[in-house]
Amino acid sequence: MEIENTRPKRVDFIFNKEGIDPLKVVEKTIQRNPDDIILDMIDSGLKGRGGAGFPTGLKWKFTKNEDSPVKYVICNADEGEPGTFKDREILDQVPEKVFSGLSICGYTVGAREGFIYLRGEYNFLLKSLNEKLKRFNDGLKKMGLDFTIQMRSGSGAYICGEESALFESMEGYRGEPRNKPPYPTVAGYLGKPTAINNVETLVYACMICQFGPEKFREIGTRDSRGSKVFSVSGDTPKAGIHELELGMTVQQFVEEFGDGDTKAVQVGGASGGCVPRKNFKDTIIGYEGIPTGGSMMLFNSSRSMYNVLHDYLEFFTEESCGQCTPCRVGCQQLLKGIEAVKRGERPPAYLEDLKKLAATMKLSAKCGLGQSVANPFVSIVNNFREEIIY
Ligand code: SF4
Repeated sequence: MEIENTRPKRVDFIFNKEGIDPLKVVEKTIQRNPDDIILDMIDSGLKGRGGAGFPTGLKWKFTKNEDSPVKYVICNADEGEPGTFKDREILDQVPEKVFSGLSICGYTVGAREGFIYLRGEYNFLLKSLNEKLKRFNDGLKKMGLDFTIQMRSGSGAYICGEESALFESMEGYRGEPRNKPPYPTVAGYLGKPTAINNVETLVYACMICQFGPEKFREIGTRDSRGSKVFSVSGDTPKAGIHELELGMTVQQFVEEFGDGDTKAVQVGGASGGCVPRKNFKDTIIGYEGIPTGGSMMLFNSSRSMYNVLHDYLEFFTEESCGQCTPCRVGCQQLLKGIEAVKRGERPPAYLEDLKKLAATMKLSAKCGLGQSVANPFVSIVNNFREEIIY
């Protein structure tokens, strides 16, 4: 495949405050038929920016089509993936755009209540968010929209970013994932149809309502429309938040953000895949390649990939809710397994057994946490085997 080594294109959709009044976007949009708003969302090609990439328009459509007098819309602001910090910046800098997207979602699906579930570690934002929310809710009331937004605070568990565990937490129970189906659009918060969207997704929804779906779909690729906010960290001179057009290769990304000695990029946080230098040119960052919720961690040759993998496995072992055996036991065994290989207590071939265990977890764990441990495990073991062994 011929790839042009151009730098990624920078975009300023999310944080730009010029020419947009988020409350007025709601006022203008609620004059329209909900079905037309859904068509615009589908036409824009917007996919959820939390990582899973489900088409936003379809999620809204499924929720709207449920026959229930009570429905909810929720903004998932439980940003806990290691290396991700974009939602914090969005909520700090342009919260009204999030409120706007959530209000439009509420109007579209037929909900009267919306919630923002904020990561416990971001509670320092609560006071300011509540103040801004009060003004926004007053504005909604004035325009005659029967919809209000409230804040809810998490308590620091990574698993509560999983949508059904988030509902459990909001309902006052221990944050543990539910069996699916039913999916949230059918039975979510309090058992009612619920549209739950990531912070960034809701801002793009607001922008699509303001500028039209064409403006969004004209950038990116066929499978990955639009732009995305990336949290860049690790061995980079440009750590921070960057909004970029989707569809670039890892090579293009590294040319912009690397330090000249990048040997690996972890795409999508601890639960994502690790791309080694030899694959930079052939790997696209997007739904046709490696999708990401936004975390991009760069590692140079000073880093031990054994230590990187060890940190990730410690994290998953700590954060596993313990509800299902493949994840509860599997995370521990993968961690103990690489430690045993490193100490020479197990032969290098034992890594093949561990890869089989990771593959089993992918197939049998109950939720995304246990299923995704195989992503970093297999990609790091396959590409940096010599660093794991010695
Ligand atoms: Fe809990 Fe892990 Fe099972 Fe998910 S996969 S339900 S986090 S034990």
